[in-house]
Amino acid sequence: MPKYFSASPAPVDVFDVALLDLDGVVYIGENAVPHAAESLAQGRTLGLGLAYVTNNASRPPSVVAEHLRELGIPARDEDVVTSAQAGARVMAGLLPQGSPVLAVGGLGVDVALAERGLVPVRSRSQGPMAVMQGFGKETAWTHLADAAFVLATGAPWVATNMDFTLPTPDGRAPGNGAFVGVLVTVTGRTPDAIAGKPERPLVDESILRTGAQRPVMVGDRLDTDIEAARRAGIPSLLVLTGVTHAEDLLAAPPQRRPDLLSADLRGLLHEHPEVLTSSETAVCRSARAYIDRRALVLEGPDETLADVEDLWRVAAVLAWSHSVEVEAAVTRMRTSLRALL
Ligand SMILES: [Mg+2]
Repeated sequence: MPKYFSASPAPVDVFDVALLDLDGVVYIGENAVPHAAESLAQGRTLGLGLAYVTNNASRPPSVVAEHLRELGIPARDEDVVTSAQAGARVMAGLLPQGSPVLAVGGLGVDVALAERGLVPVRSRSQGPMAVMQGFGKETAWTHLADAAFVLATGAPWVATNMDFTLPTPDGRAPGNGAFVGVLVTVTGRTPDAIAGKPERPLVDESILRTGAQRPVMVGDRLDTDIEAARRAGIPSLLVLTGVTHAEDLLAAPPQRRPDLLSADLRGLLHEHPEVLTSSETAVCRSARAYIDRRALVLEGPDETLADVEDLWRVAAVLAWSHSVEVEAAVTRMRTSLRALL
């Protein structure tokens, strides 16, 4: 079977820049994720570059950075990279400097276009030559209608990201992908480019801006963060503070499997153990996974967070290479993690 979860020194000693997803990694809504601020501050002290890489295009980097600093997270304005910035670079490659572009979405879209020498406009009457569409809470029918009219002329269309939903305290709300879907339905077109994770432009933009030579992507979502890292050919660290549950990890297809796993951002600072495998067994320190009558069985202590991380590692490696029933293992993974996080 392929090798997953090799032994690694502390990521802070191996990588020069951490490309950090925000929601579910650094903060959840209004609150910092526990241990995030201290871990990132210590990482920076030890020489790790930090880039905050977000698919959300609505807020300009300065506003995102201010929010991070309020939470005690070490962040300069230039440490934030948004899908709007990546989308604007794509757009700048399609149009002459100074071209007017219809900005659909929040202020972050306008700021990013202007930064690349394009002229954001808010109405079809201003003669836009293209449409850049990102998330914005104020997006109204009139903006989508104007975009549809411009797109009907065959003008280029860049979407900052395709997240269909946006997590809110009240539940799932429509994300940018849902608004893009409206224009797909109306125009019969699809965007010419998508900037955000898991597509490449945002990862490329982050590497370009930080000058990273050995970046690591750190994220909580398999289908955006981890897949983006795979597509870009860079290693990834999955943290368990966000949306990925045990059953999601065990069911992950090869292009969504992380190289490293830790409960939270403290995983940047410590060594990672190796998972050893034989045909139907996976072992990581004191944790062991094996198959008993087609069911995945986990054995080992779960007193410390390191114990629990090891259980998650061995479970994933065995589930990725065998078709097994995972129900009991998932229950153990979930309850042991919940008891310690
Ligand atoms: Mg996230």
